[in-house]
Amino acid sequence: MNRRSAGVLGELTQATRLTIWPIISQIADAYAGPRTALIAEAAHVVPPIGAQGLNMSLADLTTLVDLSRGDPGSEASLAAYARRRRPEAWARLMGIDALNRTSMAGARPLRDLRAAAIGTLYASGPVRRLLMRAGLGAV
Ligand SMILES: Cc1cc2nc3c(=O)[nH]c(=O)nc-3n(C[C@H](O)[C@H](O)[C@H](O)COP(=O)(O)OP(=O)(O)OC[C@H]3O[C@@H](n4cnc5c(N)ncnc54)[C@H](O)[C@@H]3O)c2cc1C
Repeated sequence: MNRRSAGVLGELTQATRLTIWPIISQIADAYAGPRTALIAEAAHVVPPIGAQGLNMSLADLTTLVDLSRGDPGSEASLAAYARRRRPEAWARLMGIDALNRTSMAGARPLRDLRAAAIGTLYASGPVRRLLMRAGLGAV
C-alpha cells in the first residue's frame, strides 16, 4: 500500500487487525418507521468497487436534515426522506452491483468486453466527467 500510494499521505501503518469483508449488495425494505430513520450501512450495503458507500451515507444524512420539517422524526419528514433516498440508493446499488458482477466474471471474452466498455467510457471526456459527477452525487 505504501508503494501504491506513493507516500501522498506519508507512511501508512496498520491501525486495525486485517479482516475479511463480504462483498454484497443489500437494501432495507423500508427506510423509515415510527420516529426512526435508517441511514448509512443500516439502510444499504454496496460493494466497495464504486467507492460509494460513504457518499451515499452522507447523502442520507443531508437529505434527512434538508427534508425535515421542523421535527426530523415526524411522520411527514420520515416519509419524505424515505421517498427521496430509497429509490436513489436502489438505482445506485443496482449500478454498483452490475459493475461488481462484471468485475468478477472469469471468462476471458467477458473480461475483454468489460475492459473495452470501461476504456470507451474513460476515453470520452464528457462521459468520464459525467460519471465522476454522478459518483460524487452531483447529478
Ligand atoms: C473495504 C471497504 C472499503 C470501502 N471503501 C469506500 C470508499 O472508497 N468510499 C466510500 O464512500 N465508502 C467506502 N466504504 C463504505 C463505507 O465505509 C461505509 O459506507 C460507511 O462506513 C458506513 O457508515 P456507517 O456509519 O453506517 O457504518 P460504520 O462506519 O461501519 O460504523 C458503524 C460503527 O458501529 C459500531 N458498532 C457496531 N455494532 C455495535 C454495537 N453493537 N454497539 C456499539 N457500536 C457498534 C462499529 O464498531 C462501527 O464503528 C468501504 C467499505 C468497506 C468495507
